[in-house]
Amino acid sequence: MAIQHWRQRDRYYRLIGSRCKECGAEFFPPVYRCRKCGSENVEDKEMPKSGKILTYTVLHEPLPGFEAQAPFFLAVVELENGGRVLTQIVDSPDESVKIGARAHATTRRMRVDGESGQILYGYKFVVD
Ligand SMILES: [Zn+2]
Repeated sequence: MAIQHWRQRDRYYRLIGSRCKECGAEFFPPVYRCRKCGSENVEDKEMPKSGKILTYTVLHEPLPGFEAQAPFFLAVVELENGGRVLTQIVDSPDESVKIGARAHATTRRMRVDGESGQILYGYKFVVD
């Protein structure tokens, strides 16, 4: 099994973004070049697992692979370090999902790959 594959898996399990070694800026999703100073001297960095809901929407139409889960909350969560994650909000009362609400990451089953039957995991967020 290729190392790259495991690195990719790792990115799904742990919230991995980038940190610029030149200016210290942190980014999520990961970048290859710092968007602040332009340096390519960036390293993987695990992101904070908590933040607050910046904006959200309720999806009533299922997305491919998510049929069993509609309707659901899809939110942009701003992490403690300013990184932004597009994520599903799960296990939270409807009324708790609002702009500015604090939320934290959790690892959940995302979907079953139709061809291989493999269960894919990823991160979702739960309102604190
Ligand atoms: Zn930089």
